[in-house]
Amino acid sequence: MAVNGSVVFDDLPPLPAYTLTPRPPLLSPIPDNILALILPIVAYWGLSMIYHFIDVNDYFPQYRLHTPAEVLKRNHVSRFDVVKDVVLQQVVQTIAGMLMGYFDPVECDGKEEYDIAVWARRLRILQRLVPRVLALVGVDALGLAKNLSSNGHTMLAGALAGGNYPGATQSLILENGTESVAPAFTGWELAAAGFIYWYFIPAIQFAWAVSVVDTWQYFLHRAMHLNRWLYVKFHSRHHRLYVPYAFGALYNHPVEGFLLDTAGTGVAFLTARMTNRQSIWFFTFSTIKTVDDHCGYAFPWDPLQHITSNNAAYHDIHHQSWGIKTNFSQPFFTIWDRFLGTQWKGDVKLRYERARETAQRLVDNDPTQSTDVTADEASAANSSNESAVVSPEGPTDSNARTRLRRKTATLSSDGFKGVNHGVTSGVLQA
Ligand SMILES: [Zn+2]
Ligand SMILES: [Zn+2]
Repeated sequence: MAVNGSVVFDDLPPLPAYTLTPRPPLLSPIPDNILALILPIVAYWGLSMIYHFIDVNDYFPQYRLHTPAEVLKRNHVSRFDVVKDVVLQQVVQTIAGMLMGYFDPVECDGKEEYDIAVWARRLRILQRLVPRVLALVGVDALGLAKNLSSNGHTMLAGALAGGNYPGATQSLILENGTESVAPAFTGWELAAAGFIYWYFIPAIQFAWAVSVVDTWQYFLHRAMHLNRWLYVKFHSRHHRLYVPYAFGALYNHPVEGFLLDTAGTGVAFLTARMTNRQSIWFFTFSTIKTVDDHCGYAFPWDPLQHITSNNAAYHDIHHQSWGIKTNFSQPFFTIWDRFLGTQWKGDVKLRYERARETAQRLVDNDPTQSTDVTADEASAANSSNESAVVSPEGPTDSNARTRLRRKTATLSSDGFKGVNHGVTSGVLQA
């Protein structure tokens, strides 16, 4: 084995030499740092369109958080304006990401074996404490190690003896060409070090990044609600959506979008010292989670809604006029809400019912709407988004109304009277 020239030979196994080569992109020819900007956008629109398809075809009425009548009557922004602002935010975040990527050093491969050996060394050094720690509780580690060794348990004996493995050696070719024998790592040390390097450290990095995003978003989001100027100037835009839908997730004032989402995930990425490849997954997962939190459905089979209690039903409460001063936590956990007492407490079922009834009454009493269309036409009308959401006037809207009537009939017989109108997370029941 070739060894690193700078290694000082003591009783520790030497560290291997390494050669760095630029890391090939995951999806050639797109550089990883560019893919980390593209994939979240693809995921955003891809997932949003699936939810949108479900929404306009009303495939799962039993899991809806709001009725089509509410979609029609309660939102204060057109779907077109939503798309416009989301695209703007995505352009800004892409430019910011590209600027940041410009200053990034080139990422290289080739140091993995060396880094794993560094962890194996740390483990070896840590084992030196074992006899001393065991001595504190009256255990003779060295005596025990001798016994174990004579019974063939050499690895356990070596660990108990403070990382002493006389049988673990390797022959080395030194820089001057001579051969030498040096201590070597054991199989379990290298396996444990490999686990630390490939799984444990990345898991810590992701956990850290998730905590940073949650903390960043919670306090800025809450500040946006506490300070009237911040709310009116920036954050009120996101709250034009009383009935959130998937692609409205990043409907924000551009300043808010940059401050909360782009800067938040950027700081998380930088402080977690993620590689570009790690950031691809982190940015994409964060995006998917945010879209899912605004999807307007409480699906029992959507894993994203069960990983934590911060899900679509939880965030939907924050989008209601009565819940707006609660449930600030986003997007991963509810820890800050629970810790600082801003989590919504109490029953929400009646409030949801009231909002549904009010929206339905508005649809029923709207003289501009008639009922002489077929169900299919009505479905098509509902997908005519802009008019369906913003201006309740016009011919497409009248179609939508028919559909809403049908839906109401369904609802009164089976739908929202059911188990929390499909919300199994317990949020709507709380
Ligand atoms: Zn808010
Ligand atoms: Zn929201």
